[in-house]
Amino acid sequence: MGDTVSETRQAPRRPGFLARLVRQKVPFVALLFVLMMVLVAIFAPLISPYDPNAQDLANAFQGPNGEHWLGTDQVGRDNLSRVIAGTRLSMVAMLQAISISIVIGVPLGMSAGYIGGRWERFISRANDVAFALPAILVVFGIVAVTGVSLSHAMIGLGLVFSTRYIALGRAMVKAARHEPYVEAAQVLGVRSWGVIARHITPNILRPLVVQTTVLLGAIILIEAELSYLGLAASASDPSWGRMLHDSQAYFARQPFLPFPAGLAITLLVIAVNLAGDGVADAIIKRPDSGAVTTGKRRKRPPVLVSERADRPVADGPAPVLEVEDLVVAFPAADGGETVVVDGVDLRVAPGETLGLAGESGSGKSLTAWAVMGLVPEPGRIVRGSVKVAGQQLIGRSDRELSDIRGRDVGMVFQDPATALDPAMTVGRQVMEPLRRHLGMTRAQAKARAQDLLGLVGVPDPAGRMGDYPHQFSGGMAQRVVIARALACNPKLLLADEPTTALDVTVQAQVLDLLIDLQDEFGMGIVLVTHDLGVVADMCDTVSVMYAGQIVERGDCADVLKHPEHPYTAALLASSPVNDAPTGQRLATIPGRVPPPWEWSSACRFQERCSHAVDRCGTGGIALVGDSRAVRCVRTGELDLAEKVRTP
Ligand code: SF4
Repeated sequence: MGDTVSETRQAPRRPGFLARLVRQKVPFVALLFVLMMVLVAIFAPLISPYDPNAQDLANAFQGPNGEHWLGTDQVGRDNLSRVIAGTRLSMVAMLQAISISIVIGVPLGMSAGYIGGRWERFISRANDVAFALPAILVVFGIVAVTGVSLSHAMIGLGLVFSTRYIALGRAMVKAARHEPYVEAAQVLGVRSWGVIARHITPNILRPLVVQTTVLLGAIILIEAELSYLGLAASASDPSWGRMLHDSQAYFARQPFLPFPAGLAITLLVIAVNLAGDGVADAIIKRPDSGAVTTGKRRKRPPVLVSERADRPVADGPAPVLEVEDLVVAFPAADGGETVVVDGVDLRVAPGETLGLAGESGSGKSLTAWAVMGLVPEPGRIVRGSVKVAGQQLIGRSDRELSDIRGRDVGMVFQDPATALDPAMTVGRQVMEPLRRHLGMTRAQAKARAQDLLGLVGVPDPAGRMGDYPHQFSGGMAQRVVIARALACNPKLLLADEPTTALDVTVQAQVLDLLIDLQDEFGMGIVLVTHDLGVVADMCDTVSVMYAGQIVERGDCADVLKHPEHPYTAALLASSPVNDAPTGQRLATIPGRVPPPWEWSSACRFQERCSHAVDRCGTGGIALVGDSRAVRCVRTGELDLAEKVRTP
């Protein structure tokens, strides 16, 4: 197992939610004020000095005094008692309206964002129309039909405000669904409801809290307005709005009359908003990340399973991965499709490591994602065969694929910082596939997760189970990702540039760890990388990809020492070697990988190839050979080995 010394540096422990909340003095005081008002509402009948509706005409229009701290109104009712009773009414009103809007809006918005397609379009259009309606007008309409009542008004307000949650929920889930940690959960085989509940919802809590506090403030004000207009609380209800309404007629006689209710409304609205900001800021922010989408929910044309899938296999152990004639395409501007992975074949035996190498844009990562059945949207697998441990994956339903992902295939991602859910402890993230696929109890999964964390070199695994991803260094977080990927002892591990995002001092340790774990678990590995040095260190076989095609494949040592395709030779020449003379500049490959819409059936490397001849421009250049194969018309004519040094 690799040396972990340089990885044991831990990110400083971040204070917990409560500590972060308490640190924000103003929002924390505001939250205490809101909590105090909640207590006032609950215990209103007990703490109210007088009956809020008891009239005493002899003591009407009093200002603040020893007996009536906030004075009395036009019929001698105690203002303090009415404000206290009004607190209860306002809280109940807020609760009614906000709970209706959340119960309706959040599920509709989240389902629209997650499912997409027609359901999303229908919800969005309907919501756009409802969103445009002024809240007061809608409540007017509902009260006109159902009769004046605070509950009716709040139901109307709840319906109106549900549109805000639909819009927010849809937008947030749509964005969160593209996050790598959500992709990672899907790769682990977590079902849709589990992804939404455990990985998306905690990460969109922050904007939901902000939205809720803004709306709570608005509800208080609108309730006061409606009561003021006589459309919510009845004349006898001691609502704050009704108190304001009644005070306007007697303002000249007692100028203090509007103050108790007005002050209560103002303070509660400000406190709710400040407290909401504080709570939202105390919720862990997730790091920004690049977007990768999946097309699992879209209706697609049927995928053709390659006829070659049923051909007899060569002798030797049954492969853990067999990919035949895999073709992936994206919609083109002209209405057709552009092929981005073009007839790829891969084969990995148990305990074997295959390197999938090439520059950016070669299609290697897309090939790995296609193996998992997670082609980025709006792409699709056009045809081919993908067998994992003998099971054909092409044509399977999402549910069947989710049973296989995480159990038979694990995946390690490029950037552990985005592959781990920032709002979930690492212990729970490692336990998740164990509970989902192996049916372990919580206690069993916890014990196994601790074992796995120890196995991948996380110091004090029991103590770190409750830590969050941000408390781990990059290398240590990648160890957690590896532990999670191997939790169910998969037969195949896909590692997509697993060291690219890591510190150079940690890269070798993570690669050593993968080798050690392969010895222990015996899984086959597909290592996607642009680094031929990593291929040389790790792999038994290598497939070099260029412009969506495999251009050379074979035994790793043989290909790297005796490349037969000019692109492989050029990649090797541009790779750093340990014994290179000081000051020697690395060779570069001129030009760039052509974009898919420029690909032809002729050699796609032709424009960058220093060995190109006229024949290279003719169509139909095939990959010739079996275990050692090359896609070049000049195979056998060129001596490419002498120009390269193996990294
Ligand atoms: S086919 Fe021609 S252009 Fe293509 S790699 Fe071979 S020699 Fe170069």
